[in-house]
Amino acid sequence: MGAARLLEHEVFRKASRREPCPVCGHPDWCGFNSYLCSCMRVGEGAIKHITLSNGQVAHLHRLQPGRVIPGQDREDLFPREAPLAPADARDRVYRHFLRLLDLHPRHKEELIRRGLSEGEIKRNGYKSIPEQVNPWIICKKLTRSGLDLAGIPGFYRAESKYGGSYWTFNSSPGYFIPLRDTKGRIQALQRRMDDKRNGKYMLFSGHSDRGGCSCGTPAHVARPGEVKDGRVWITEGQLKADIAAAYLSAVVIGAQGATSWKPVVPEVLELGAREIVIAYDRDQETNKEVARGKRMLAAELKKLGITVREAIWRARSKEEKGIDDALVAGLEIRVVGS
Ligand SMILES: [Zn+2]
Repeated sequence: MGAARLLEHEVFRKASRREPCPVCGHPDWCGFNSYLCSCMRVGEGAIKHITLSNGQVAHLHRLQPGRVIPGQDREDLFPREAPLAPADARDRVYRHFLRLLDLHPRHKEELIRRGLSEGEIKRNGYKSIPEQVNPWIICKKLTRSGLDLAGIPGFYRAESKYGGSYWTFNSSPGYFIPLRDTKGRIQALQRRMDDKRNGKYMLFSGHSDRGGCSCGTPAHVARPGEVKDGRVWITEGQLKADIAAAYLSAVVIGAQGATSWKPVVPEVLELGAREIVIAYDRDQETNKEVARGKRMLAAELKKLGITVREAIWRARSKEEKGIDDALVAGLEIRVVGS
């Protein structure tokens, strides 16, 4: 019975006849919320095993949007339009896709200005959204090489003048930032837009009314060339995470935003991190949402037995409120709290 009480930040619902356990399918004993399941019966595929005070072992499984659990019809539990393709399939398509694109000099210059080296830019795989080639031609190249674009966020179907439909994607200018999981697989693409009127960053996602699907708000696991700091750092923003990882020589998880902290938790568990450092923007005093997101993330991780610390620095200007800018500016970063 203790499993349902394990995590209470997003309340764990107890498995019931109406909502059986999404992992084992039984109507009792297990608990789950929208992104984690604490199954008491199935250990296989779990990201963490927790021994409860009564000696029973709860197996924590991550629940991904659209993930289909064998033998279990989850349609009515977490309904969504198009099922997301498995991580391996998304990785294969995105790698192929990015290989067909180039990085425009103006985007490369911007990344260098942000503090990344040419080597890191190449390794992380940033590519410009194509401006000269029609999106459907690129999609055709992908499908001709045997790739299925169904369930790959960012791609959707457009109606053909001559009847039928074809694959395409939004090609508003900007560049792609690959978002990786703990295994380095590209699970989604972030876009840094040239025209920032609708927001600097927009996920490559959506159009679910036209055969597309949403990637949710994935957290990005940024890895440096060499890991020298065993702690896992957490920041808001994926490009920020790439830059911070390079300067810290640590694995840095980039949340989609301070309020999208939930997808960060399974990544931390999968990395097996014992100690994490939260390095959110230093405008928490004035930004209540950031402060709240940080508090909830910290509380959730502490409940899972992870040591939570916080990075602080003295920002001399608005430009140094992010951990990336602070590191690039050479500010002293202190890690506090226990
Ligand atoms: Zn179960």
